[in-house]
Amino acid sequence: MNTYTFIDQLTYAVAPPNGAAETYSDRAKASVAWLDLTEDRKVERAARFLIEQLDGIPVDPQSKVAHPFFRLSVKERFLLVALHQLQWPYDRIARTIGLPDAMIASLAWSIRIRFVFEEMSASLPFPSAPLRPAPACPTYDPSAPWMQGLLDPNPKTQHHKAIQTHIGDCPTCRSLMEQARHIWERVLIGLPETKIPEQTQLKTTPRLQVVEQKIALGLAEALAILSGVFALYFWIRGA
Ligand SMILES: [Zn+2]
Repeated sequence: MNTYTFIDQLTYAVAPPNGAAETYSDRAKASVAWLDLTEDRKVERAARFLIEQLDGIPVDPQSKVAHPFFRLSVKERFLLVALHQLQWPYDRIARTIGLPDAMIASLAWSIRIRFVFEEMSASLPFPSAPLRPAPACPTYDPSAPWMQGLLDPNPKTQHHKAIQTHIGDCPTCRSLMEQARHIWERVLIGLPETKIPEQTQLKTTPRLQVVEQKIALGLAEALAILSGVFALYFWIRGA
């Protein structure tokens, strides 16, 4: 996938289905077209631009948008799409939405819990701290329980590997892990299918070339005006 296909993917996943996704995507692409950055960083900058654009755009409750996913804010929608569909690690999400890395785990957990239990009214067991944890059990933080760290697309640390070994011997932690896995899967199932119109996929490159041409044309005009100004200046000085 190239940068612009990625931006299309993200825009069509996150933007309310009001027919304007193509416009949002074009603007997001144009916002990074001339930046001297790696492809990954361009996608992050475009994502940030997209979130800023969509922030505050109300989703029409009367339309087919009654989908629970669209009852979340744009940042919340982005976070779920980034974790479940794009497989972005926490540090990349943090950079994109401008929050410290350390906040992403608790933010992700609270959004997931709300999405699954309130917006989707799922009848799943709600994970909570074990009543009688064994001394070897990992510390349970209710705002960002350890199970989520094993499920999310982050590089796995020694700490994660130690927990994984522990789960093999501890039925309590194994059952917590299963509960969290059900929540994680329910979020994935709850995300609407991203449909990018075929003509958008085909046109991604040509449409962008038009945007780039327009920008280039603007630059050429600016240069022409500027050289006119210089010519006048030297003409006056020479006179
Ligand atoms: Zn345990």
